[in-house]
Amino acid sequence: MKIIHQLKEMQRDTALHRSEGKSVGLIPTMGALHEGHLSLIRAARQENDRVVVSIFVNPTQFGANEDFDLYPRNLVTDAKLAEESGADVIFNPSAKDMYPSDLCTSITMGSIAEGLCGRYRPGHFDGVAIVVNKLFNLVNPHRAYFGQKDAQQVQVIRKMAEDLNMGVEIVACPIIREADGLAMSSRNVYLKPEERISARLLSQALREGQEWVKKDLQDPEVLREKLRQILESDPAIQVQYIEIVHPESLHPLKNLEKPILIALAVFIGSTRLIDNIIIT
Ligand code: AMP
Repeated sequence: MKIIHQLKEMQRDTALHRSEGKSVGLIPTMGALHEGHLSLIRAARQENDRVVVSIFVNPTQFGANEDFDLYPRNLVTDAKLAEESGADVIFNPSAKDMYPSDLCTSITMGSIAEGLCGRYRPGHFDGVAIVVNKLFNLVNPHRAYFGQKDAQQVQVIRKMAEDLNMGVEIVACPIIREADGLAMSSRNVYLKPEERISARLLSQALREGQEWVKKDLQDPEVLREKLRQILESDPAIQVQYIEIVHPESLHPLKNLEKPILIALAVFIGSTRLIDNIIIT
């Protein structure tokens, strides 16, 4: 496996493989790889000749009071895990190369980025969009793999790729969870032991939500209240949002007709966690 830091070298690497008729799959990540990321690498391995994992903690998607400085970074461990899962290349550019001081282009995502996390993280999805756009230009993949864990991110990227005719196939992969249901996340390491126990309630609430929908509950407001009660039964959990929306448009649903995306964000202590479920 090759580790590439230079932008031009990354472009040359794909150009060479494309000229030989090979397909290229990209998995954009911020590192601190866990089974969730590795499942994306394995999926890309199945479908592409060349698998590129980008590792870049992207400053433009962090808000001023968020955890950019604290975010876990460990290239050596990540490289080992990525290689074992089938990566051919790790692309690890520097922030200086990605964002030279004279960068003056920006991307503004519209309505798709307004609800859910977008409401509480202004500018976040514009930051995601610009970095993914740059990564697509640098890696020039045929396919790019994203986790359903970040449900809004998948739809933002799909919309951008479609709107700008990027010609990259966007592949969404299922959420990988710990044995007790907690969705894997690089941020789970921030949780103190007692907070880690509280965090189980997120997936429990979503599963209960699914049961109510199965039992033919009709009113999204009633469902939202039930979920809120479950989460707030633990004083350690502070709900940021619980949204019941269409899984593609992300528009709020007026009644519980499938398909349904239930998405939520909470704080446990100072750690922000998100999770979601799609009911079809
Ligand atoms: P991140 O490094 O957090 O930016 O995540 C990189 C990619 O991995 C994103 O497409 C995430 O949605 C995906 N991902 C993160 N956690 C999980 C998970 N538990 N299951 C599936 N995909 C995940």
